[in-house]
Amino acid sequence: MESLGAAQIRELAEQLNLRPSKSLGQNFVIDGNTCRKIVRLSEVNQNDAVLEIGPGLGSLTLVLLANAGSVVAVEIDKRLAEQLPKTIAAHVPERASNLHVINKDALNITEIQPTPTALVANLPYNVSVPVLLHLLEYFPTITRGIVMVQAEVAQRLAAKPGSKAYGIPSVKLRWWADSQIASAISREVFWPAPRVDSLLLSFARHEHSDIHNESLRLRTFAIIDSAFAQRRKMLRSSLGTFLGSSERASELLIAAGVDPTDRAENLTLEDFIAIARGISLPS
Ligand code: SAM
Repeated sequence: MESLGAAQIRELAEQLNLRPSKSLGQNFVIDGNTCRKIVRLSEVNQNDAVLEIGPGLGSLTLVLLANAGSVVAVEIDKRLAEQLPKTIAAHVPERASNLHVINKDALNITEIQPTPTALVANLPYNVSVPVLLHLLEYFPTITRGIVMVQAEVAQRLAAKPGSKAYGIPSVKLRWWADSQIASAISREVFWPAPRVDSLLLSFARHEHSDIHNESLRLRTFAIIDSAFAQRRKMLRSSLGTFLGSSERASELLIAAGVDPTDRAENLTLEDFIAIARGISLPS
């Protein structure tokens, strides 16, 4: 399946008078092999309605459309959102009716038609974690996906307890899904080339008995936030501020089967959930 090459991307950008915006993370993929690799690793097929965040000039969208049943593309930049259907119609007119473009901030979308089954995206790097968590929260029909993010962020998202990279994104993502690093991506495949390395992160939604308990999730996320706000401190102290006193924190931790002298980076999601069961949030 064809994608857009460097010359076509630059030509399109020129036509639109587009200077790639840093704040919107506009680094466009100019290498068809990279787009094909992302779509191959995603394993999407004709039964999938794929959600793509930040389609940009459409290089990944073109390959997605050739492999998926349909694509919903959410793009914040009006010029890009308006251009995308035209680019698709010019390259694959027979697939054009399978593309739905939404000109919105991905962080604000709460409804999508057709209901997405998978997420495949080269995410805007400055908002990649909140966007990923937002989508997993609001679209339970997304059962799997693959996203390109800054390498350090991918490592944090996929990190396991006890590692340096383990932190808030790792535990929160784990509420919704299992994830793993799928591949490295060279800086050379982008225009403009980013100053950071990139990795592909694949994820698969999992079920656990508390996944639909929204109150418990909010309490768990609040505990995770406070525990990692002072990650080098012992939990009785890092959670003491949030819970009123270190004595109260110690009581709760012991009741949850967690050592009060342990640190946030050693706790599993299940540990955080056990602690959260003991608290209520102020309404
Ligand atoms: N998918 C394209 C590619 O691979 O060439 C572009 C990827 S570029 C890294 C990120 C894209 O996300 C840009 O097109 C940018 O305008 C868009 N974007 C940035 N912030 C966004 C947001 N909050 N919601 C939706 N799209 C956003």
